[in-house]
Amino acid sequence: MGRFKQSQIKDQDQQRRPASLANLRDAGVGVFCWCNRCGHNAEAATAMLIAQLGPNFPVPEIGSQMRCSACNSKDVSTRPAWPSQGQITRHS
Ligand SMILES: [Zn+2]
Repeated sequence: MGRFKQSQIKDQDQQRRPASLANLRDAGVGVFCWCNRCGHNAEAATAMLIAQLGPNFPVPEIGSQMRCSACNSKDVSTRPAWPSQGQITRHS
């Protein structure tokens, strides 16, 4: 997720800006983390991430702050772990 994509989203629809950690905490949802190199994935606790990054941190940018615990890659994607998006979040 680069700057180009972010500005695109902003132009398209202000309402569809990325969820923040506070949004997820309020919804009781965790953060799904996915390593783009080895496919390792895990769900991180939102409260832990808020303690580290603050409540207003956008969820898609959390990946840039993380490192894969399996292969040590920093190429990690993050998204809200909405239970209803099981099919949408499948990338492989
Ligand atoms: Zn990995």
